[in-house]
Amino acid sequence: MFLITHFILATIFSFFLFPLFGWDVWLIIVGGTFIDLDHFITNSFRFKKPKDIITYFSKQFKFFMRKAEGDNKVRLYPFHSIEFLVVLVTLALFFRPAFLILIGVVFHLISDFISDTFILKRFIRYFSIIGWLRKGKGL
Ligand SMILES: [Zn+2]
Repeated sequence: MFLITHFILATIFSFFLFPLFGWDVWLIIVGGTFIDLDHFITNSFRFKKPKDIITYFSKQFKFFMRKAEGDNKVRLYPFHSIEFLVVLVTLALFFRPAFLILIGVVFHLISDFISDTFILKRFIRYFSIIGWLRKGKGL
């Protein structure tokens, strides 16, 4: 799912939670949008050259809609992993901002799951950093 789509969905979702959390809902929008920064991290390691990274993101629409034109490799996106979620849940037990970010992140992950299942019809990411390390897969 595109970053702008995540931003719009998270903003709409946070609108409904506004009565509960007030203006702090901006943290839900941050959590629901910016965990996709790990796509930038992963692809920075993958492409190495800044020009290639920019090309990748400029063609991201094609990438998603045409299933990457033969590139069906499953990649690790660390902020989409169960390990990141465990750390965030732990922080959320003690810190309110982390709790609000967690709400956004969970909403984001559910959106990604629905998108992967019904639109892409495949999963483009590993769900676990440990699982990815055990398989010894590269980026
Ligand atoms: Zn995502």
